[in-house]
Amino acid sequence: MNPRILIIYTGGTIGMVQRPDDGSLAPVNFEELSNEIPMLNKFGYKINAITLSPIIDSSNITPELWFKLAETIENNYEVYDGFVVLHGTDTMAYTASALSFMLENLNKPVIFTGSQLPIGTLRTDGKENLLTSIEIAAAVKKGKCIVPEVCIYFNSKLFRGNRSSKIDSAQFRAFESKNYPPLAKAGVEINYSCEYIRKANNDTPLKVNYKLNTNVVILKIFPGIQPLVVESIIDIPDLKGIVLESFGSGNVPEFDWFTQLINKAINKGIIVVNVSQCAGGKVQMGLYHTSKDIQKVGVVSGYDMTSEAAISKIMFLLGQGYTYNKVIKYLNTNIQGEISL
Ligand code: ASP
Repeated sequence: MNPRILIIYTGGTIGMVQRPDDGSLAPVNFEELSNEIPMLNKFGYKINAITLSPIIDSSNITPELWFKLAETIENNYEVYDGFVVLHGTDTMAYTASALSFMLENLNKPVIFTGSQLPIGTLRTDGKENLLTSIEIAAAVKKGKCIVPEVCIYFNSKLFRGNRSSKIDSAQFRAFESKNYPPLAKAGVEINYSCEYIRKANNDTPLKVNYKLNTNVVILKIFPGIQPLVVESIIDIPDLKGIVLESFGSGNVPEFDWFTQLINKAINKGIIVVNVSQCAGGKVQMGLYHTSKDIQKVGVVSGYDMTSEAAISKIMFLLGQGYTYNKVIKYLNTNIQGEISL
């Protein structure tokens, strides 16, 4: 049987045109977008498309739209072999990370892609990104899909979604996965690195987790950060989680006020997870003295997680209603390939 692929269009540059009133880029509907790629029919696949309303610039993404996206995949899961999600690049890594936690027991490809130039422009990168994503979503070996994961395909590389970050807004190479190798490279052929791709378990049915707790924050440390800034964040009513973006391998200022405020947060039951501002490498608490104090008061290592993965993982874990200790346990566990332990 021919592969059946569902394209889910959410918006983003790939489907944008210039608005006549002010010249800014805004998304158009899928019919206009697909008119630009008549070769879609050449695959010989059964390809359908669903547009999620409203079509957005991905800077306007919300957890409610993540739920809609997950629900669309769930409702069509049995009917299609793979899914291609057209999404703006700005927050693609956040959405792909969140979906990786929400779509438990995923056994089919969910490939996010988009472009840096709208698909209607001459030098667009959108056509190659879309066409190759469709091919990856349909790829099978011995009757099984090759990539049963939430991924980002961009500029000839397939990355694990929760390992990716947007690193460039001007080059076609918009994404990078510094701490995990690409799952595939597309040249004349698409070469899959099967040793890095998650193994599917076809016996377990898809379970979609629709609960996320958004009472969380990313706190980026910088030289000169003031006590009042940190204190104001910690005092936010109902705050449940902090992703602490530290320096280097997990280091922060050793000032007493800083340690005391982090201690105060933890005593209030706020989970504090430490990720690095560096794109590559990992948090190693205790390696330098500058991470010892926060380690002592109970900050958890985020290892080599991206901030995008960390914030969505913490939203997901808190959303499940787990106890403090269980959230800590899962932060120290590789759930969806988001950390190397
Ligand atoms: N602002 C756009 C978006 O994220 C950028 C893009 O798609 O590349 O929707």
